[in-house]
Amino acid sequence: MRYRFCPLCGKELKERFSYDEGNVPYCEYDKILYFDLPKPTVVVAVVKGEDILLLKQSYIFKNSKVLISGYVSNGETVEETVYREVKEETGIEIKDIKYLGSSCLADKELLMLTYMGYYESGEITKSPEVEGAEWVNIEDALCQMEEDEVGKKVVMAVLNEMGYKGKNAYRCEI
Ligand SMILES: [Zn+2]
Repeated sequence: MRYRFCPLCGKELKERFSYDEGNVPYCEYDKILYFDLPKPTVVVAVVKGEDILLLKQSYIFKNSKVLISGYVSNGETVEETVYREVKEETGIEIKDIKYLGSSCLADKELLMLTYMGYYESGEITKSPEVEGAEWVNIEDALCQMEEDEVGKKVVMAVLNEMGYKGKNAYRCEI
C-alpha cells in the first residue's frame, strides 16, 4: 500500500529519497518513511501418512478447499506462526516443519511463505473461522483445491517431497 496521508497524524506525506527504494512517502512530523511492503503470511500443508489436512473457508474460496494459512504477527518468527496457525485453526500439533518456497499476490499485498509439517498429536478441533477441516488422501487434494493456485503449488511440492511417482494425484490438473 502506497500511503498518501500519514496513518498516525493524518497529514499529507511528502516524497523523500531513500537510496535504492527511490522516492518514498515520508511524514515530516513523525519522521517515518512508509515503504510499500507486502504482508508476510504462512501457508502450511500438514501431512499424516498418505493424508493432507484441508480446510473449507468460503470467504477465501467459495468452491475450493485450502491449506492452513495466516498472518505473521509482529514480534513472532515465521516458524512460530506456522505452529500457532495450525494449532489455532485445527487444534493439532505438528513437527519437523520444512520451508518449501514463497509465492506472492501483489494485488492482495501478500508475501506467502509456504511450509509443510508432519502431524504430531491431537484431534481436529477447528476454530470458529474454519467451516471444515479434514484429512484428505493426498491423491485427491488437487481435485478439491480448484481455485487455490498457491495451495496447489504447495501440494505439488509436498508430493515431490514424499517421492510420489504416480499420475493419479494430478488427474484434475489437465
Ligand atoms: Zn505523521
